[in-house]
Amino acid sequence: MTTTTFQMLVGGQSVPAVSGATYTSLNPATGEAWSTLPDGDAADVDHAVRVADAAFRSDEWRRLTASARGKLLRCLGDLVADHAVELAELETRDNGKLIRETRGQLAYLPEFFHYAAGLADKLEGSTLPIDKTDMFAFTVHEPLGVVAAIVPWNSPLYLTAIKLAPALAAGNTIVIKPSEHASTSILRFAELVALAGFPDGVVNVVTGFGAGAGAALTRHPLVRRVAFTGGPATARHVVRATAENFAKLSLELGGKSANIVFDDADLEGAVNGAVAGIYAASGQSCVAGSRLLVQDGIYDRFVAALRERIARITIGDPLDPASDMGPMATEQQLGVVETMVARAREQGVTVLAGGKRPEGHAGWFYEPTLLECESADLDIVQNEVFGPVAAIMRFSDEDDALRLANGTEYALAAGVWTRDLARGHRMARDVHAGIVWVNTYRAVSAMAPIGGYGASGYGREGGIHSVLDYTELKTVWVNL
Ligand code: NAD
Repeated sequence: MTTTTFQMLVGGQSVPAVSGATYTSLNPATGEAWSTLPDGDAADVDHAVRVADAAFRSDEWRRLTASARGKLLRCLGDLVADHAVELAELETRDNGKLIRETRGQLAYLPEFFHYAAGLADKLEGSTLPIDKTDMFAFTVHEPLGVVAAIVPWNSPLYLTAIKLAPALAAGNTIVIKPSEHASTSILRFAELVALAGFPDGVVNVVTGFGAGAGAALTRHPLVRRVAFTGGPATARHVVRATAENFAKLSLELGGKSANIVFDDADLEGAVNGAVAGIYAASGQSCVAGSRLLVQDGIYDRFVAALRERIARITIGDPLDPASDMGPMATEQQLGVVETMVARAREQGVTVLAGGKRPEGHAGWFYEPTLLECESADLDIVQNEVFGPVAAIMRFSDEDDALRLANGTEYALAAGVWTRDLARGHRMARDVHAGIVWVNTYRAVSAMAPIGGYGASGYGREGGIHSVLDYTELKTVWVNL
C-alpha cells in the first residue's frame, strides 16, 4: 500500500526526524496505512525548542509591533479560510471525523485567528495608584517565550488554533506536538503560517509519539508555557514534567457532561441536542453529552423519539457528505468502547440502541448506542467513554437533576433543556461545569472560553483571558 509522506516543520524547513525514524498512520475508515510521518524524539524536540527560543529572542519577532502581529494573524485566518477544503479532507483522513463536521469546524476556525488578531494590540497594562507620592508604578504584559502545545487527535486544527492564536497574539513562539494519530492537517497548516509571513521558527511542529516527543517537549527547560489537551492519565505526566521546568500550564481534559431534559422542554429540540451532543464526532469529543438525564414526565416520550432518531443515523465513509456517523479514530479507542459497553452489560444496563460494531464495515466503526442505567454509580455513568455511547437516567425534580449532574469527578460542560427561563438560570448557576448550554448544545465561539473544573482540568482557552494567559505581568517602579 503506497502512503503519502509528510515531514516535520522546524525553523521554516521541512525536516525528517534526526534519527531518520518514521511511522505509519492508518485511515480509520479502512484500517489501511495512508501516511508516513517522522517519529520525532528528544533530539528533534530539543532542536525545535532551541529554534523557537532563538526566534523569540530575534529582533525580527521581538521588535514587531503588536498590531503587526495582529495583521499576520488576520492573514493566517484568511489563509485557513482559503484552504478549508484541503485541511478538512486531511483531518477526516487522519481521524475519521465526518467531512461535514471537519468542514463545519473549518468554517468557524478563521474567527479564532481574527479574534486573537484583534486582541494583539489591546494588551494594556495599568498605572497603579500606589500610596507613595515619590514613586510611579505601572504594569506591562510581556510574552512568556516558547509555548509547547500538546494536541489530541479528535479536533487537531481547532485545538491547535485555540492555543496558537492567543500565544502568537501575545508575542510568544510555539512548538506543536500533534497526536501521533492525526498530524497531517497541522503540518499543512504550519505551511500556511509561513505563507502568512510569520518569521521562520515562530511556529514549529514536531511529530511523534507522546512518550517520546510529547514527554521531551513538556519537560524541556526552555519551554515557558504548556497548553495541553488530552486525557487525565496523560495530564498527570504533564503536570509532573512541568514540576521540573516550572512552565505555566493549562489542562483541557475529558468530560462526562450531563445533558439535562426537563418535562417542559421542547421535545424535538432536546432530542436534536442529545444526538448532536453525543453522536457528533462518534462521541470523541471532550464536551460530549454522554449522560442524558431526563425528567420522569417526559422520559418515555424522549426515549421513543431518540431511538427513532438513532435508527435513522447512517454510518458510513466519513468522506461521504451523506454519512451521519463515521468510525472511531483508532482501533484502540474502538476497543475501549467495546470493553466499557461489555462491562456495562455485566452490570445490568439495558441496551436501548446499538451496543455493537455495525456489519459490513472494514474500519473501526461502532453503532450509536443508548444505555438505560438505574444507578449513578455504574462505571459507564461515571467514566468517559470517548465513543458514541450515551448513558440515560431518570430524575424526579431539580434537586435530583443537580445531584446526578454534579455526581462525577468531571465538570467540563452541561446542557439544560427547559422552557422555564428562571429554571434554566438556576441550573446554570448550580451545575458544576465550565460551560453550561441552555436550550442548545455545542455552541462555540472564539469569544467564549472553554475548560473545566476538577478532573476536566484547569485554565481556559478562548475568550479575552486566553491571551493574558500567555503573558507574564511585569510591575515597574520609578523613583521620582
Ligand atoms: P492523550 O492524552 O492520549 O493524548 C493527547 C496528546 O498527548 C497526544 O498528542 C499525545 O501524543 C500526547 N502525549 C501522550 N503521552 C504524553 C506524555 N507522557 N507527555 C506529553 N504528551 C503526551 O489523549 P487522546 O487520546 O489523544 O485524546 C482524548 C482525550 O482528550 C480525551 O480524554 C478527551 O476528553 C480529551 N480532550 C479534551 C478536550 C478539551 O478541550 N477539554 C478536547 C479534546 C479532547
